[in-house]
Amino acid sequence: MSEIIDVAGIFGENVFDLSKMKEYLPKKVYKAVLDVMENGGELAMADADVVAKAMKDWAISKGATHYSHWFQPLTGITAEKHDAFVTIPDEMGKVMLEFSGKELIKGEPDASSFPSGGLRATFEARGYTAWDCTSPAFIKESGVGKILCIPTAFCSYTGEALDQKTPLLRSMEAVNKQALRIVRLFGNTQATKVSASVGAEQEYFLVDKEKFLKRKDLIFTGRTLFGAPAPKGQELDDQYFGVIRERIGEYMQDLNKELWKLGITAKTQHNEVAPAQHELAPIFDTANIAVDHNQLVMETMKRVAEHHGMKCLLHEKPFAGVNGSGKHNNWSLNTDNGVNLLEPGKTPNENIQFLLVLACIIKAVDTHADLLRESASNVGNEHRLGANEAPPAIISVFLGEQLEDVVNQLIETGNADSCKTGGKLETGVSSLPTLSKDATDRNRTSPFAFTGNKFEFRMVGSEDSIGAPNITLNAIAAEAFCEAADILEAAEDKDLAVHDLIKKYLTEHSRVIFNGNGYSDEWVEEAKRRGLPNIESMVEAVGALVTDKAVNLYEKFGIFTKAELESRAEILYETYAKKVNIEALAMVDMASKQYIPSVISYTTELATSISAVREACEQADVSVQKEMLIEVSAELVKAQKALKELKSVLVKVGKIESQKEKAFAYREQVFPAMDALRAPIDVLEMLVDKEYWPVPSYGDLIFEV
Ligand code: ADP
Ligand code: MG
Repeated sequence: MSEIIDVAGIFGENVFDLSKMKEYLPKKVYKAVLDVMENGGELAMADADVVAKAMKDWAISKGATHYSHWFQPLTGITAEKHDAFVTIPDEMGKVMLEFSGKELIKGEPDASSFPSGGLRATFEARGYTAWDCTSPAFIKESGVGKILCIPTAFCSYTGEALDQKTPLLRSMEAVNKQALRIVRLFGNTQATKVSASVGAEQEYFLVDKEKFLKRKDLIFTGRTLFGAPAPKGQELDDQYFGVIRERIGEYMQDLNKELWKLGITAKTQHNEVAPAQHELAPIFDTANIAVDHNQLVMETMKRVAEHHGMKCLLHEKPFAGVNGSGKHNNWSLNTDNGVNLLEPGKTPNENIQFLLVLACIIKAVDTHADLLRESASNVGNEHRLGANEAPPAIISVFLGEQLEDVVNQLIETGNADSCKTGGKLETGVSSLPTLSKDATDRNRTSPFAFTGNKFEFRMVGSEDSIGAPNITLNAIAAEAFCEAADILEAAEDKDLAVHDLIKKYLTEHSRVIFNGNGYSDEWVEEAKRRGLPNIESMVEAVGALVTDKAVNLYEKFGIFTKAELESRAEILYETYAKKVNIEALAMVDMASKQYIPSVISYTTELATSISAVREACEQADVSVQKEMLIEVSAELVKAQKALKELKSVLVKVGKIESQKEKAFAYREQVFPAMDALRAPIDVLEMLVDKEYWPVPSYGDLIFEV
């Protein structure tokens, strides 16, 4: 039986949130912290000392022994270094437990081992972590005990961002400033802030730990590099929203509990499309907190799985031929006086502020499609975007019937006099309630879909930080708002100017609007005709970061310097080559030490059997064994040849100096060589006796969790 969980009681118990601050801090200091959280600026050192002591007292009362600056270097994951609260013992040998304001505000990790993309040579090791008081400190419980974690930004000695958080915070300031200009134009004098809200739906796979540990590919790369398809896949649609099995249910319950304790609003859970695939979605929060929380969600998913004898796979494509995992990044903009700028209301055609915001975002997405595409690129997503699985690598905006109709009216006549309404849904059953219908149906194939009062950016990879997509969204929105505000603030007749601007933006950028099936081949053709970029791979996408267009955008709003952008591009190329290299080496390892020897054993067994049968009875027909021996041996030859070829390609590309050229070489030369090795091994898996097969099959992994 499941236990009774006091959700409200445990929610946030491991977070030093406002209620704890209020309890632990003198009123004056509490106010000072709130002021910095809301309006920026710096906390006086004396106040920081008080906050640090309060945090420490609270953390110790919860059983914490250490603190850590918790940050997000460009590795995609988080980093932490623990320091115990202990001080030097006094003459009696007794230690005190201390934590100062200075230690709270600034950390100095040796930054030389984090990716910097040439921003910092290893001899210039100094990096700083700086307290981000807008994201609350929390206690992380794990095998190492309880650690007080302080969310921080991570910068180099010369102030360049080496992490996700710094540019994210900069982008939030930019969009705040520019969006405020827009709401002011519409007479909103009360709002003092516009912040980006984000809700990230997280997909994941669970597999049995024992089976996982038998697969070197999963251990080293997070995805299977070999594997014949199981007899059954997802074709029956019987997994999506299916009944959650006991073992998985227990996992989900534990996961929710851990997340709630961390103040994360784990809300929705369900089985996803692929066997062994699931999803969790929290309630949206301010972008900065949502990014931090998503990192914690991913980390907690992995940690809790261990307690249930399972492994959580966050890789975008753990199994070929089966749906991979993504992350839907829901994004909207909200004023601090309760207005969602993306809320159309019942009659969007009359909501001029909404229409302007919408037009600005459509313009931004069309102008910077390449940047959005880049922000959703990582090595794993390479197997989803632009591959057979949606969404496509072409950026388009889905508006739905109602808004598309309004937009079309605006483009044609400059006015939108009417708007379609949802009407009623008749079920034909008198005992069922009549439901009111949304004005717009859903679309699951669009990479950037308007979903009621937010945009859902659906391209993001499941394993990636949602930092980059949100930095990009905030930045491109800030630019569009800024350009619109520049024009409108200077206009004599504002109403007319707004009207004209909406029409102009929509007309110029309507090519990016697409409400049809984004997975179809026709769309690829149609998009080409419309001149929309179709950037098929990550290595091709990375260049978007360093175009003049991107540098102008990011420098104008103080989000990235050119040097920071160049360093990020360099890191991405480098990471790409390194990750694919690890995959290729894992394949070489598995093929040479596991698959090929196993197949040789099997052929020996076949050969022995042929002779043995013949010896026992000369008339016996051994044609089946012979046929199998011939077939298996032929594939074995192919495998050995492909293995040699892969090894030699690796030697060749390993010599390339430029990170960019190397990344391209891995995509263009190593990937095909990997595929060539995989093919015969997968064929062999279907031929060879299971007893001889050295690793668990797809069926074992995804149907027997
Ligand atoms: P859908 O079913 O359209 O995907 P949900 O209501 O399930 O929408 O929400 C999906 C995610 O979007 C959740 O994390 C939710 O909290 C988040 N979300 C809802 N409204 C907003 C908003 N205004 N801004 C950002 N995220 C939002
Ligand atoms: Mg959704």
